[in-house]
Amino acid sequence: MDRKTTLIRMSERLGADLFGVASANDLSNAPQGHRPADVLPDSKSVIVLGLKMLDAQTDILLTEGDYFGVSPRQGMFKGHNSFISQELDRIGYALARFLEKEGFKAYHQMASTGGTDERYLMGLLSLKHMAVQAGLGVLGYNSLLLTPKFGPRIRLTAIATDVEIQPDTPMNESFCRSCENPCISSCPVKALQRPADNRAYEINKYACRQYLTTRPACSLCLKVCPIGSERIR
Ligand code: SF4
Ligand code: SF4
Repeated sequence: MDRKTTLIRMSERLGADLFGVASANDLSNAPQGHRPADVLPDSKSVIVLGLKMLDAQTDILLTEGDYFGVSPRQGMFKGHNSFISQELDRIGYALARFLEKEGFKAYHQMASTGGTDERYLMGLLSLKHMAVQAGLGVLGYNSLLLTPKFGPRIRLTAIATDVEIQPDTPMNESFCRSCENPCISSCPVKALQRPADNRAYEINKYACRQYLTTRPACSLCLKVCPIGSERIR
């Protein structure tokens, strides 16, 4: 069995819903300090893993009525996301440690903490951009990764390693152009706008972050997105 197949099987056994690989070279256009080579100088590949959020746990969010108050629904949604991040980190660590035992270097970009640069609200490595390059989905107007099976109801973790692994092919789809953009109209602070043609999304992430300082969660732009062939509706 080749190394990629071994890693896919291992991730499935550990419970991952999505697995993809990007070439570290293809991520070298990320801003300085945020490229795989900046955290692991000999990076050759980045493995990206995803776990799906439960649909009922997402649909519990209210698009009306929660705008100005803290709701137990938001708290429950946040707790669910924290749990998924911990599960992802367990799977990501297991794969990274497996690669180490094989004699390779492996850096784990964790799901539960991004190493965020608060000046630009940018993680050490961008999980969603790596996921796009690893063929898991495309970026939507809500600024999130949209996957064909689960839409944006997915959380991610990644492992940069110095072993060559056959990369996957990025998708070439646009889910948003034929959509009525409920993500934009649902945003309580108008942080999202329809992007210019040369941009995947337009978000005022400072407005979004500010809104989130007064409540446990928002994610209405995630909840209302209709994409996802395997969602339980
Ligand atoms: S709601 Fe529509 S426009 Fe917004 S991210 Fe989803 S598919 Fe794209
Ligand atoms: S999380 Fe909420 S505030 Fe932030 S962009 Fe989405 S809908 Fe707007």
